[in-house]
Amino acid sequence: MSNRTFTIIKPDATRKGNTGVILQMINDAGFRIAAMKMTKLSKEKAGEFYAVHAERPFYGELVEFMSSGTITAAVLEKDNAVEDFRKLIGATNPSEAADGTIRKLFAASIGENAVHGSDSNENALIEGDFFFSKLEQF
Ligand code: ATP
Ligand code: MG
Repeated sequence: MSNRTFTIIKPDATRKGNTGVILQMINDAGFRIAAMKMTKLSKEKAGEFYAVHAERPFYGELVEFMSSGTITAAVLEKDNAVEDFRKLIGATNPSEAADGTIRKLFAASIGENAVHGSDSNENALIEGDFFFSKLEQF
């Protein structure tokens, strides 16, 4: 399954009305949407999703933010999906993100950085399955 990744359009991008333009960029970059939904994470679910960061100093802030509003979760398909999607979104800190990347264009800070992208094939599968049943992934 090295051709799939998982993304979240985060609450900041949703609030700013950037969901449509971000989905257009994802489409234009050659990704096929294999699953998609708008939803809202409880604090508990946000904490579970980012459990790998539980010991980091920004974890509380991250959980607050990720549960602060609606999000769009999606499974994306393309050759070399994980790596190519990380290139499309840019560095975690928007001030370090390359020109033309989603985070450079739409992120306000390292915390409120518009989108999530899986960091490995293994995590892409785990994260996709966190939001979607097998019947909802096409
Ligand atoms: P994501 O997993 O959301 O795609 P990433 O892989 O680029 O982002 P991670 O190191 O996995 O970066 O961090 C997860 C998220 O935690 C970041 O996207 C950001 O929202 C938040 N975060 C990371 N570092 C900081 C920090 N120093 N201060 C505040 N929030 C941070
Ligand atoms: Mg990450």
